[in-house]
Amino acid sequence: MLSQFEKTDSAVFDIIHQEENRQAAALRMIPSENYVSKAVMLATGSCLTNKYAEGYPGKRYYEGQAFTDQIEDLARQRAMTLFGAEGVNVQVHSGSPANLATYCALAEVGSTIMGLALPHGGHLTHGWKVSFTGKFFNSVQYELDAKTGRLDYDKIADLAKKHKPRILISGASAYPRAIDFTAFQEIAKSVGAYHVCDMAHIAGLVAGKVHMSPVPYADAVTTTTHKTLRGPRGGMILCKKEHEAAINKAVFPGMQGGPHMHTIAAVAVALGEAATPDFEAYAKQVVANAKRLADGLKRFDFDLVSGGTDNHLILMDLRNKGLTGKPLAKALDCAGIVCNYNSVPGDTAGPFNPSGLRLGTPALTTRGMKEQQMDQVAEWINTVADNIDNEAVIAKITDAVLELCAQFPVPELFVQRANQ
Ligand SMILES: *Cc1c(COP(=O)(O)O)cnc(C)c1O
Repeated sequence: MLSQFEKTDSAVFDIIHQEENRQAAALRMIPSENYVSKAVMLATGSCLTNKYAEGYPGKRYYEGQAFTDQIEDLARQRAMTLFGAEGVNVQVHSGSPANLATYCALAEVGSTIMGLALPHGGHLTHGWKVSFTGKFFNSVQYELDAKTGRLDYDKIADLAKKHKPRILISGASAYPRAIDFTAFQEIAKSVGAYHVCDMAHIAGLVAGKVHMSPVPYADAVTTTTHKTLRGPRGGMILCKKEHEAAINKAVFPGMQGGPHMHTIAAVAVALGEAATPDFEAYAKQVVANAKRLADGLKRFDFDLVSGGTDNHLILMDLRNKGLTGKPLAKALDCAGIVCNYNSVPGDTAGPFNPSGLRLGTPALTTRGMKEQQMDQVAEWINTVADNIDNEAVIAKITDAVLELCAQFPVPELFVQRANQ
């Protein structure tokens, strides 16, 4: 018996099925990726995708909202409880629009915003010039200390004093160390700026209590819901009560029309999961695994930006190995280890073949992998780096990776072939 989906559109079904196999048969080490639960997957694929719900609970522009209001209220309540926030917007479509909407709510076009530069681990939407956040606002960018690879709060304070930004942005996409949000709050306060934290990468670590929460120290906290937080692709803005109305207005009608209610339902499910002891154990293990992997890589003489990690990700600086990021990422992909090439602080190589490689442990941890497997992964990465053009060596690792993957199955498959 073929499934209904397979009968209706075998072309799309086949591609999704192949992607599902790829995700099961690889070590997925892009630190922003994960595996969601079956419940999150089902909510995403539910009938809520059929519903228009412009407006907010209790104040919609279309009828038929008895259940959409319940779903959105539940997602809001769970978000505020989990993160201890006074206000929240769960309608924003993803992390990038969450940032733009928040800046628009707290500043005007042309205002000065200040965030971490992209090549130093910041996100495009922290004011990098190709992003609208770098075009609509007067963007000032801070950088990491070149020697330590870490945030230098004194330098950030000096830059803030000089430029007096309206918004100071904390948070990053490729920063392996803990961030001190009280320091950002102090700097922001000292220059009369709003502190906006973008915790997209570490939201799951914050929920799991293995990273300091920015919520008490920021005017607004933006996040994606699909990275370490392990929900559907989506976004969220947590905020102080006084900013909630402006932020809601910036999201709708400022930037968006109808909310994606199926995503909001899946966010609610993920937030429910994130409030459990199991999730705390997962978050703890994500960090323990990253530490162990970092130690393993260092034993093979790999240089790590900042010397290690406090969170879920590792940034390797390959310059001491005479390698660049892209060929190594490609060779690792052949071996079944999927990660991404990345700039490192002070990189002189261009963004298309930078000197670094970014790795993370969330997806592997969700599969149940622990320290022992991290030692193995470090060894494989080293072997691939030493044999970047040796197909036979890489093929051997590919087989070993497949074997390991078979021992740590991914959460239940979604579009399983009925007759297989
Ligand atoms: C991933 C990320 C975003 C953007 O999220 P999208 O959902 O891809 O738009 C924003 N900020 C940070 C820090 C991120 O890591």
